[in-house]
Amino acid sequence: MVSATKTKLLEPVKLNENFYTLFKLVITMLGYKHPCKYCNQLIPPNSNVCPFCGRVNPLGPYRCPKCRAPTETTWKACSRCGLALEITCPSCKRITFFADYCQHCDAPLWIECKNCHTVQPITSKKCVNCGKKL
Ligand SMILES: [Zn+2]
Ligand SMILES: [Zn+2]
Ligand SMILES: [Zn+2]
Ligand SMILES: [Zn+2]
Repeated sequence: MVSATKTKLLEPVKLNENFYTLFKLVITMLGYKHPCKYCNQLIPPNSNVCPFCGRVNPLGPYRCPKCRAPTETTWKACSRCGLALEITCPSCKRITFFADYCQHCDAPLWIECKNCHTVQPITSKKCVNCGKKL
């Protein structure tokens, strides 16, 4: 009899704890902060640059360097613009998936036009925006 009463008394506390843990998890997932896909630090949603590791596009899927459509590391070409998603890294000369950074040495695979500051794939010869030689 006594132990049954104890269990009944303990249950609501346990439930509340579980609820609180779940609540925190939902808050983390839905709204407030998200883990950077490069360094795993929690950063504000809609961050364009991770404040911890300084990498661009730290949230969400990998994106095509040319048209910014979401891509997957297993793809050979972008589903929207057809850009080849396998390139030789200019830094370590190894074949890497073409996203924002080399998968082997972390070198950035994008450059910014010095003239108009448009960010574009490192393979571009001319700025996609202003046509200036890169
Ligand atoms: Zn980061
Ligand atoms: Zn594309
Ligand atoms: Zn590399
Ligand atoms: Zn430009």
